[in-house]
Amino acid sequence: MPRQPVTKADSEPAQPDKLSLMKVTQNIGRLPMVGPTYAKRLEKLAIKTVEDLLFHFPHRHDDFRLISQISQIQPGETVTVHGQIISSQNIYTRKGIKIQKALIADPAGQIEATWFNQPYITQTLKPGLKVALSGKVDTFGFKVSFSSPEYEIITSSKQQVKNNLGPIHTSRLVPIYPETRGVSSKWLRSRIAPLLDQIDSLVSDWLPSPIIKKQKLLDLSTSLRQVHFPDSLKTLQKARHRLAFDELFLLQLASQKRKYLWAHKKLSHPLSVNQEKVTHFIAGLPFTLTKAQTQSIKQILSDLRHTNPMNRLLQGDVGSGKTVVAAVAMYVSFLNDLKSALMAPTEILALQHAKTIKTLLEPLGLTISTQTSSVKDKRKNPDILIGTHALLYRDIPPDLALLVVDEQHRFGVEQRAQLLKAPKTPHLLAMTATPIPRTVALTVYGELDLSVIDEMPQGRKPVKTWVVPKKKRASAYKWIADQINKDKTQAFVVCPLIEESTADSLSQVKAAETEYEFLKTNIFPQIKLGLLHGRMKAKQKKIVIGNFRNKKLHLLVSTPVIEVGIDIPNATIMIIEGAERFGLSQLHQLRGRVGRGEAQSYCLLFTSTQKQESLQRLKSMESESSGFKLAELDLKLRGPGEMHGIKQHGFTQLKIASFSDQKLITQTHTIAKKLIALDPQLVKHPPLSKKLASLLKRQIEPN
Ligand code: ADP
Ligand code: MG
Repeated sequence: MPRQPVTKADSEPAQPDKLSLMKVTQNIGRLPMVGPTYAKRLEKLAIKTVEDLLFHFPHRHDDFRLISQISQIQPGETVTVHGQIISSQNIYTRKGIKIQKALIADPAGQIEATWFNQPYITQTLKPGLKVALSGKVDTFGFKVSFSSPEYEIITSSKQQVKNNLGPIHTSRLVPIYPETRGVSSKWLRSRIAPLLDQIDSLVSDWLPSPIIKKQKLLDLSTSLRQVHFPDSLKTLQKARHRLAFDELFLLQLASQKRKYLWAHKKLSHPLSVNQEKVTHFIAGLPFTLTKAQTQSIKQILSDLRHTNPMNRLLQGDVGSGKTVVAAVAMYVSFLNDLKSALMAPTEILALQHAKTIKTLLEPLGLTISTQTSSVKDKRKNPDILIGTHALLYRDIPPDLALLVVDEQHRFGVEQRAQLLKAPKTPHLLAMTATPIPRTVALTVYGELDLSVIDEMPQGRKPVKTWVVPKKKRASAYKWIADQINKDKTQAFVVCPLIEESTADSLSQVKAAETEYEFLKTNIFPQIKLGLLHGRMKAKQKKIVIGNFRNKKLHLLVSTPVIEVGIDIPNATIMIIEGAERFGLSQLHQLRGRVGRGEAQSYCLLFTSTQKQESLQRLKSMESESSGFKLAELDLKLRGPGEMHGIKQHGFTQLKIASFSDQKLITQTHTIAKKLIALDPQLVKHPPLSKKLASLLKRQIEPN
């Protein structure tokens, strides 16, 4: 409880006249006190509009609610004092450090406050002004003093306070935000506070009121005010709950809406399934299908018999055998005298697929043609067209019955959107090695039917995995050299992740080059090394991979994002540098590049971290070989906000809700499903419909 009433204060006065004309969709740069320079900086925080700023939520709050008289302060406590500035000055030490000191007095005492290298502070904290200081109190000798406290001028006269919040930097629960260079929490607070003051004219609640009532939610304006500047921890919690509800609910609505649109789409070519021929094809394979493969095939065949288009995601670890499952569907299309296409994200993957599919289906008389930027198969009218995404868009044959999309980020969202534009659509099968935790799938990809291959073909040996701390590095290098020299095996070295991205940045490439030079000169002078990164020309890449495949190179250094599905059976060692920077799912996917042949494979996780929890997390790679288990573990250990690899695969990042909140996810799922079933166009709920439309647009064109 405050020992003194809270006084109204502000830092910089807002310009409410202009603000009242503001729209939430307006560009942030046009907001008073923002301007183009800050607008540019805010882009780093994905804040582009006024609404984005309002929905930039604090990740925590400092509790500065305890307001004390100076004479009663206890050392070590976090406290706020209100007083008058007696003096303030800049002191320059011999080492060139600038120290700012201010002396503050209230009726019964005095206290000193110190800051470092913030010389402008003395221009704000002029003697005579009333000020609030919040922070932790330390003792220096016998004196208590504030070290770098938050401060805020308490206005009394002309600079009348226009917001109803009172102090925003001190004396209360003070929001701390995700920041970026040149944008501090203090800056954000003083821009967000005036908006909250006008919040009722800025936003209107998009949730239907029966839902608000039934779920006992706060209204939107109150939630926004309370999430930034809460009156109490309890209201903060309620506000966060409401906003988390919205976040999940809107995602669920979006996927239910897509599901509805897809289900009402006409199928371009209905198929019939010749079960006898399919069974014969499967019997002729050189291996027995796993139970999970058989189950997935069954689900896909059932989709293909339907008169509305399939919309299925086939998930399975690298090497679990997704291609043969897709091949069965393609074969069905062929038996109907129709065509299939397979899109891969890169040329290398497209060529690899072409090879596998040819082995499987050419003996049955199917013609297969490959289309990439450098390979143009002249064959006219093939039964199966395989290529990169971009190329295939150009000439999709009119008699296409099935489109298979492999390893596309966001699992074919663009393709689906594209297909929905045409009057009719073929069946769609997306494939991925990215394991999606169940809650994520339900929320973000609720419109997709899922097939999961959760077992490996028989006889496949799990990749032996070791975490290699710094002190064991030298012997690990020696072991690797021995393996390469004696056993004629090959190894990958993946460089540390610098930033999460779908393409190699310049700094990522630089890191790979440095690692390559280092290993070549210092560690493996006797071994032939190659370098592979995303900024190399396609032709160059192909040469490097070709040389690795032909064993002219023995060790391939690459960036983290390169060629997820690359298949080199003779490579049995995967070395991942800076392993602690990756998520478990990512590590697992990288590890999947080895273990493809008969021989025992190894994955070495190099790390120099000392943190016990990081090491513990990495250790789970040693014992766990299921991608799905690791994805769930990722979610549990790191929390959804930090779920690594999330950006790479285009998962929506949640701002306030959590993918581990089973209860809220199920709840919002049920409500969204019901609402779309009753009123698919949301005609009864125009604000919600508008909100959803903008979300759907953002999801298809994220930038
Ligand atoms: P991915 O799921 O990574 O795309 P692939 O479909 O490329 O995996 O399959 C990897 C390898 O495993 C291929 O050489 C394929 O022929 C083989 N394969 C697939 N299914 C089985 C199985 N049931 N038993 C043995 N080998 C299989
Ligand atoms: Mg594959």
